[in-house]
Amino acid sequence: MPPIADRVTSLPPYLFSIFQQKKRELEAKGVDVIDLGIGAPDLPTPSFIIDRLAAEVQKPENHLYSSYNGCREFRQAVADFYKKTYQVELDPEAEVLALIGSKEGIAHMAMTVLNPGDTALIPDPGYPVYRSAVHLAGGKPAYLPLDADNGYQPAFHKVAEDTWDAATMMFLNYPGNPTAATVDDSTFDQAISLARKHKLALLHDAAYSAVTFGGYQAPSILQSDGAKEVAVEFGSLSKSFNMTGWRIGYAVGNKELIKGLSIVKSNTDTSQFLPVQKAGATALRSDFSAVKRNVAIYEKRMTIMLDALRSLGIEVSKPRGTFFIWAPVPSGFTSASFAEKVLEEAGVIITPGIAFGPSGDDYFRVSLSVDTKRLQEAAARMKVWNSKES
Ligand SMILES: *Cc1c(COP(=O)(O)O)cnc(C)c1O
Repeated sequence: MPPIADRVTSLPPYLFSIFQQKKRELEAKGVDVIDLGIGAPDLPTPSFIIDRLAAEVQKPENHLYSSYNGCREFRQAVADFYKKTYQVELDPEAEVLALIGSKEGIAHMAMTVLNPGDTALIPDPGYPVYRSAVHLAGGKPAYLPLDADNGYQPAFHKVAEDTWDAATMMFLNYPGNPTAATVDDSTFDQAISLARKHKLALLHDAAYSAVTFGGYQAPSILQSDGAKEVAVEFGSLSKSFNMTGWRIGYAVGNKELIKGLSIVKSNTDTSQFLPVQKAGATALRSDFSAVKRNVAIYEKRMTIMLDALRSLGIEVSKPRGTFFIWAPVPSGFTSASFAEKVLEEAGVIITPGIAFGPSGDDYFRVSLSVDTKRLQEAAARMKVWNSKES
């Protein structure tokens, strides 16, 4: 066996791949599995974005290396988007960086900030990449509890004083995966004052910033006073424009953090393929009507699934964003035993909340990544399961 570093072998097993293995086994037996575990849109990328890619891919000058920070057109489009949407001014040279998807930026930012043994605050429950990024960078993850009784706002007061002292970075994520929680700007104001007090890098993952409904507009952390002193916001075109496979996102905010991240990246990758960046610029310069059409589809699916869960006795109030439902597991189950039962007896994949942190063990996540007919089918099958139980 060739040697593999401890930092890799000590990573927890990726729960999602275990479920995918079970899915293949059931499908091989002829079971029609409905997968509500995939955290990605099922809808196609809007054609105006594909058209721009197709035109740019023909041009030989676009086959060369991009500049390390991303091409000027993309960075300018990000800056213009922030000005138009959030009234935030960004210098495209120093405060904007193109990413090969925001996940890449999150992982490299942990390497940028953390010295070995440094503490990083990560939300519980939260997107699993924060924890693994901190671990791979040699840091120590510490949980920032989210308050289930208060709309999953960060419970900053529950973090011990010596943890604040040891911490050098903190991740936040609103609208949130897996909780679908949203915040108003006062939460960001509070986070910034804590980051300044404790000298932390504050990293806000805004992957779902445009996936909102009911008139709610998610704030940018950069709208809060003093944000540029401590904060970087990660953005992604994956979820808003159905571009998960394209790998295009951005980091914006504090100059020193952006510069540090660009140093790590210039020693690791050489930015994204230029036609992808240019197509991404076209997406960000659009009127976002394609995003609004998508979001309307998610909102309709959300209503259908919330009604279906309610009829099973599972009550969840309607979120203001994302395409996730974060729901309590029925009593007598852990999140894993419930997810396993639903897969084996209903052929439906849901994600056990434990995958997102210890506080998730009483919950499961439904991803609205299938059409309404399949969602109704999934809910009906879960009903069968439910009546068998009671
Ligand atoms: C999907 C997702 C990302 C990663 O998005 P990419 O830009 O495709 O890398 C980051 N954060 C959260 C919370 C996500 O759900």
